[in-house]
Amino acid sequence: MSTKKDIRTLTIEELKLFFVEKGQKPFRAKQVYEWLWKKSAHSFDEMTSLSKDTREILDQHFAINAVVIDNFQVSSDRTIKDAFRLHDGNIVEGVLIPHAERMTACISSQVGCSLTCKFCATGRLTRLRNLDAAEIYDQVVLIKKQAEEKYNAPLTNIVYMGMGEPLLNYKAVLESIEKITASSPNGLAMAPKRITVSTAGIAKMIKKLGDDNVKFNLALSLHAANDEKRNKLMPINEQNSLEALAEALNYFYERTSNRVTLEYIVFKDFNDSIQDAQELVDFYWRVPSKVNIIEYNPIDGGEFQQTTEQRLNSFVEHLQKNNVIVNVRRSRGKDIDAACGQLANKNDQGMIQRKLKAL
Ligand code: SF4
Repeated sequence: MSTKKDIRTLTIEELKLFFVEKGQKPFRAKQVYEWLWKKSAHSFDEMTSLSKDTREILDQHFAINAVVIDNFQVSSDRTIKDAFRLHDGNIVEGVLIPHAERMTACISSQVGCSLTCKFCATGRLTRLRNLDAAEIYDQVVLIKKQAEEKYNAPLTNIVYMGMGEPLLNYKAVLESIEKITASSPNGLAMAPKRITVSTAGIAKMIKKLGDDNVKFNLALSLHAANDEKRNKLMPINEQNSLEALAEALNYFYERTSNRVTLEYIVFKDFNDSIQDAQELVDFYWRVPSKVNIIEYNPIDGGEFQQTTEQRLNSFVEHLQKNNVIVNVRRSRGKDIDAACGQLANKNDQGMIQRKLKAL
């Protein structure tokens, strides 16, 4: 593992300063930035528009901590789950979800997760560290390439719904989005409206998103619209009650004019009754929002089950009768544990993390 500073943590201004200090022309910084962000170079040798001397100077002072695909699995529905290896050997997972009309990348923001949502496989792993902006960005670049090479289609959407709670890695997540949306040559020039950050619900940070006037979409993993049930499902709710979340989401809406998506996984005999649906209706009318109903994917040793088709339909009908804007999302990639809540590094590294958690 290199102890040199990762060059991608530098701003273009800092890079210009570096070149001036080394007696080189500051415009080199622009060229290097283009190699790093637009062309995703993983070594200084690839930067062929630079002289050999310049490349050597860069190599003496900096590293490029690039993320690589350690392995991947393809589901029968064509969903691809990637295990990404970070420069320190940690593994995180990401997913490419192909649809007829869109290609979505689901990416991770932390190694493991410090929250302990009961339905989520990642929640059983210790949070080992946050990813930096470049590591998040690399996942997008690698999945984008996969979409182009395997499905001959451009990447159209990005969701921060993989491993980790994005709002607990706020700075890096926002920096990564800045790069993803930056116009060429500094980024991928994707529209912020194509990006969704999904949170388990940290009221203070939702308000901060409003203050920062972000342009991307926000989703709240709600999953229960009464505090007692939500506390059981997502312990983070004990410090971030539905009342506090509703207030934060209204604050966010006032500043961004952006409707939040309420994600609701339906669990058998836990949150799938008509009363649960009515509580969701009540919460929906408190917050400018729309609802995504998500089919549950049981995890190994998990306490929840998938609800029946009949109960799911009655639940959705109740929402529709009450004029809720609702989409039903069928799960993808179930056979390879790539579906929502299933990312848990079922490989050696994941085993290490699970053991750490047990200590
Ligand atoms: S659902 Fe998200 S926030 Fe909750 S444990 Fe899983 S990864 Fe963490």
